[in-house]
Amino acid sequence: MTIAANLGYPRIGPRRELKTALEAFWAGKSSEDELLRGAAALRANGRAVQQGAGIGHLPSGDFALYDHVLETACAFGAVPPGYGWDGEGPVSLSTLFLLARGGRGGGCGCSGGTATALEMTKWFDTNYHYLVPRLSAATRFRLARNRWAEAVREGLASGCRTRPVLLGPVSFLLLSKGEDGTKPLDLLPALLPAYADALRGMAEAGAAWVQVDEPCLATDLPAGAGDAYAAAFRALADAAPGLDLLLATYFGGLRENLPLAFSLPVSGVHLDLVRDPAQLDGALGLARAEQWLSLGVVDGRNVWRTDLHGVLERLQGAARRRADGSRRLMVAPSCSLLHVPHSLRMETALDPALRRRLAFAEEKLAEVAALARALDEGEAAVAPALEASDRAVAEHRADAVARNPDVAERLAALTPEMERRRSPYAGRAAKQRERLRLPPLPVTTIGSFPQTAEVRSLRARAARGEIASAEYEAGIERLTAEAVRWQDEVGVDVPVHGEFERNDMVKYFGERLDGYAFTKHGWVQSYGSRCVAPPIIWRDVSRPAPMTVRWSAFAQSLTKRPMKGMLTGPVTMLQWSFVRDDLPREAVCRQIALSIRDEVLDLEAAGIPVVQIDEPAFREGLPLREGDRPEYLRWAVACFRLASAGVRDETQIHTHMCYSEFNDIMDAVAAMDADVISIETARSRMELLEAFAAFSYPNGIGPGVWDIHSPRVPGAEEMAALLRRAMERLPADRLWLNPDCGLKTRGWAEVKPAVANLVEAARRLRAEL
Ligand code: GLN
Ligand code: ZN
Repeated sequence: MTIAANLGYPRIGPRRELKTALEAFWAGKSSEDELLRGAAALRANGRAVQQGAGIGHLPSGDFALYDHVLETACAFGAVPPGYGWDGEGPVSLSTLFLLARGGRGGGCGCSGGTATALEMTKWFDTNYHYLVPRLSAATRFRLARNRWAEAVREGLASGCRTRPVLLGPVSFLLLSKGEDGTKPLDLLPALLPAYADALRGMAEAGAAWVQVDEPCLATDLPAGAGDAYAAAFRALADAAPGLDLLLATYFGGLRENLPLAFSLPVSGVHLDLVRDPAQLDGALGLARAEQWLSLGVVDGRNVWRTDLHGVLERLQGAARRRADGSRRLMVAPSCSLLHVPHSLRMETALDPALRRRLAFAEEKLAEVAALARALDEGEAAVAPALEASDRAVAEHRADAVARNPDVAERLAALTPEMERRRSPYAGRAAKQRERLRLPPLPVTTIGSFPQTAEVRSLRARAARGEIASAEYEAGIERLTAEAVRWQDEVGVDVPVHGEFERNDMVKYFGERLDGYAFTKHGWVQSYGSRCVAPPIIWRDVSRPAPMTVRWSAFAQSLTKRPMKGMLTGPVTMLQWSFVRDDLPREAVCRQIALSIRDEVLDLEAAGIPVVQIDEPAFREGLPLREGDRPEYLRWAVACFRLASAGVRDETQIHTHMCYSEFNDIMDAVAAMDADVISIETARSRMELLEAFAAFSYPNGIGPGVWDIHSPRVPGAEEMAALLRRAMERLPADRLWLNPDCGLKTRGWAEVKPAVANLVEAARRLRAEL
C-alpha cells in the first residue's frame, strides 16, 4: 500500500489564530493556559483537516509556538545562561519567548529584562526565519522536555497515530552558532544521547515512524559532515530499534550527498522531486529493497495545483522499478506545507480562472492522497480529481492572457544596450554633480516616513470605500506636503515624498501591474506571530499606467531641491511573491524589470532627477548551492540594469539593500552599476562596509549611520563618528549620509530630531573636509 504522507502543516491557523493568541498573551491580555489551549485547538484542527484529506502519515511535533528550531534547542537544553532557565526541568514559556524576542523591560512577565533575543536568520531559501541557537563548550545537552512524545500522545488521545517530526541532529548543529570558538558539529557526541532519549520516549508513547529532517543534506556540506551523519544515524537507529526512521530532505536535490543519504541506517528517505525531479533515478538505484522512498511530488513551496496525470506517470514508473510485491512508496509534498497558505476555501474574491489553478495546503494534501490512491487502485478510483486537474492544465495552456503578445514582443526585442547606461560612472557622476549641485556628503533618507495611525486609517477607510478617492488623495497630499516642507526646513539635500500612499513596498506595485493577484487570507508565517501574504504572479507582467509619477511629481512641485523617486526593484518584486512556474524565474523577472523601466523613464520625463530602486531581497534570492549562484547573479544583475539603465547620464540612480552581507556578492553589486547604493551599516558599526572597502567599490555609497530598528535617537556626533570610520575606508566625495533603512516603523517624535541630527552631522563633517 502506498502511503499518503505529509511532512509538516501550517501553524499560524486559517484565520491567523496563533498570531492573535500570541499577541494577546504578550500583551498580558490572556493567560499561558489560554495560549496553550488555543495552540492545542489549532493542532487538533490540523489533524482533522489532514485526516479528512486522506493523509495516512500525519506529522506531529511540527507545531511551534514561535519557531521549531528554537523549540528544538529548548527541548534539548541548549539555552545560554541569562534567560532564566536553571538547567532543571522543562524550559518555561517565559524563557522561550525571552530567547525569541529579547527582554521587553519586564512587560511580558519575563525575568531577565535586558536579555537580547537570539539572532534570527532565513530558513534556507524560504521567507521563514528561524532563531539561531547559541552553543558553546558549556552547553549541557539533555532532554529537558520530550515535546515529540507529548505530540504523539496528543494525537493518540484524539484517535490518530501521528509521525513525530524532529529536526535532525546534524542539521540542528549546522544551523547553530558556536560561541567562543566552539564548532557546533564538534558537539555532536554530546548531543546524541539527548536525541536518543527523545526517540525512546517517542517509541514508548506509541510512535511507529519518526521523521528526522535533515535539509542540510540538500546543501554543500562542510568538511566532516559526512562522518557526522554516519555517526548520528547509527546512534539514532540504535536508540530505538523498533522505530522506523524516515530521513527527510528538501529544498533541493541531494546531488553528491545522495549515496550518503542512502548509506544511513534509516527505514526510508524523503526526496524533494519538485526542486530536483532527476534525482529519483539515482535514488531508485541506491535504495535498499527494504527501504521506503517518500516521493515529494507536490510543490510545498508554491501555490500551484499539481498536474496529477503527469506526476502519476512518474510515480508509476518508480513503482515499476520497485515492483517486488510491496513496493514501499510514500507520496508527499516536496517539503513542509509551512510555506504555503492554509486553504483556498476562504478565497472567494479571486479571479475564478486563477482560483481553479491554485492549491494551498489543504488542497495539496488532497492531491497527495489522490496520487497515492491512483497508484494503488488505478486512475478510476480518483477520476474526478484527475479530471479536475486535467481541466486546469488545459485551461492554463489555453489562457491567452498568461502569455501577453505585447510583453513577449518587447522581451524578444531586448538589446544588450538596454542594460547599459550611456556613459561609465565617472562621466555620469560629473554630469549629475553639475545638475544636482549637492554639497559634499549629501543627506538623504531611504524613502518611507512614519506610517502613523492617521496614515493607516486614511488608507483603510479608502479601501473600505468609506471616503471618496478625492478625499483620500487630498489627505495623502497634505501629509506629503508637510513632509516635503519639513525636509526643506531641516535641510535634507535629497528629499523624498514619504511613501504615505503605500501599504507595502511589493503590494503597492503589484496592485498596479497586470499579471499580479492578491489573496485575502493567504498568510504564510515569516517568524513568530509575523505573517506575510505574498502576491501571486500568474500572468505576464506589464504596466498599464504610471504607478508613482503622480506622487513624486507632486512632491517635486513643492521644492527646489532634487526629489528622489522611489521604486521597488524587479528582483525584490519577484522574490517576495509566489511566482508562476510555467516560465523560468529569470523570464518573469525580466517582465517586471521592463515595467519598472517604464516607470523610471516616466519619472525622468516628469522632471524627477534622482530615482531609487530598492532591492532589499537581492541577496536572499541566492541559491543554496554555491555552484548555482553565478547563474542567479547573472540574471538578477541584468534585470536590475534593465530596469535602471534607460535614463540619461544626468539622472541619478540609487539602490538600497538592507539586511545583506556583501562579501560574496560584491562583483554583482558593483555590476548593478547604480550611481549610489545605500546599505545597512549602523547596526554592525560599519562592519558591513568592509566588503565595499576591500573591493574598492567604485560608485557612490551611503553607509547607514542610524540604526532604525531601535527607537533610540542617535546624536549628531555619534552619526558623524560612524561616517568618519567610513571616510577612512572610502573617498569622501562618493559618500552619502542616510539611515539604515526606511522610517515607516518609527514615530515622528524620533524621526524629526534624528534627521535634524543627521543634517548637523553632515555640517560638522563638511567642516572637516
Ligand atoms: N523605500 C523603502 C522604505 O523606505 C525601502 C524598504 C526596505 O528596504 N525594506 O520603506
Ligand atoms: Zn531597507
